[in-house]
Amino acid sequence: MSTIIIDPGHGGADPGGGTNQYWKEKDLVLQISQYQERRFKELGISVSLTRATDITLTSGQRTNLVKASGAKYCISNHINAGGGEGAETIYSIYGDGKLANGILDAIAAAGQKKRRVFTRTLPSNPSKDYYFMHRETGNVQTVIVEYGFADNANDTQRLLEHWQEYAEAVVKAFCQHIGHPYKAPQKEKTALEKALDVFIQEGITTTPDYWLQNAVPGEVVKGEYAAIMIEKAAARINQLRK
Ligand SMILES: [Zn+2]
Repeated sequence: MSTIIIDPGHGGADPGGGTNQYWKEKDLVLQISQYQERRFKELGISVSLTRATDITLTSGQRTNLVKASGAKYCISNHINAGGGEGAETIYSIYGDGKLANGILDAIAAAGQKKRRVFTRTLPSNPSKDYYFMHRETGNVQTVIVEYGFADNANDTQRLLEHWQEYAEAVVKAFCQHIGHPYKAPQKEKTALEKALDVFIQEGITTTPDYWLQNAVPGEVVKGEYAAIMIEKAAARINQLRK
């Protein structure tokens, strides 16, 4: 039983309409979903996926997976198309829209343009949801997340550069919604950061920020500062050699 099931839209024979020269919707949403799966696991939230590979799922297979997961929540990840700009979230006509609003606000806070939060009814039957992910997933609270438009140049640029931050925003908003403690992802330290940690521990430098800013390609460090650090490093090595 998982708390949340993530649904990477489309897959296999269905590339998805949110496809352009840079990506296929099915691939980008799988990337987003797998990122979120890893993050939910790190945060101690039980999570599953409707698909972890590039397979075709019928709408029935997809919604059966959602219902069988035992999850209370489902996030269905999509990329939009059709002439618009920004992110949208869609919730069931039977939902309160809180999670959908929380997710869109978080994506906007991460830098994406906010388009709208909405629900939509089936024209032939106004007591039913328009989208099958809402209509056929039983009591699971499903939010469809459209991260941006594949046919909009600004969205395309932002998605290429920041898809991970938008994916993270959904994780953050979900944690807030269920009252689960959230921690931002740990960035892996660079080689220079690791080396400076050693220098701090050994008393060789007390100004790591100076080196982080200046001891990088394209920047310049002051010779006298470098000399002081080299001398201190040598002195410490000599101590250790004794
Ligand atoms: Zn889609």
